[in-house]
Amino acid sequence: MRAVQVGGPLGAYFPPALFDTKFDYEAFAARDGLIGHGGVVVFDDTVDLAHQARFAMEFCAAESCGKCTPCRIGSVRGMEVIDRIMAGDRVDANLELLQDLCHTMKFGSLCALGGFIPYPVMSALTHFPEDFTKTSPATRGWAAKRTDATQSVG
Ligand code: SF4
Repeated sequence: MRAVQVGGPLGAYFPPALFDTKFDYEAFAARDGLIGHGGVVVFDDTVDLAHQARFAMEFCAAESCGKCTPCRIGSVRGMEVIDRIMAGDRVDANLELLQDLCHTMKFGSLCALGGFIPYPVMSALTHFPEDFTKTSPATRGWAAKRTDATQSVG
């Protein structure tokens, strides 16, 4: 078992180090997760969290009502940025851009769809950084640094 997502497609991906999180709103919020509708999806070691992050942006683009810009445009830009990261194109700059974009979507969207999409994306990036750079050997150093920084979580 490599990851668990609680709360449906807007929920955060938790690694084994966070499996001891108490199942309540406050405990999940303290670890940048959410309970949402309470659904639990378990992923084995074949899961690619970069693809899951892209799926979150794709889901948002498909479901967006179009009323606000962070969600309507941000989700499309999010897919494009993740595609560039996975292709090894200016990875550091695009990772920074992805984090900025998630911040804008989280705090600038008018409802929970755009506002919660950063949870799956940022949790994938925080806890499984190696999945975002494995197609680009030149950038694996970044993933190793991120992994070291997050090893003590939990
Ligand atoms: S965040 Fe909500 S209001 Fe804004 S475009 Fe998305 S679905 Fe519509």
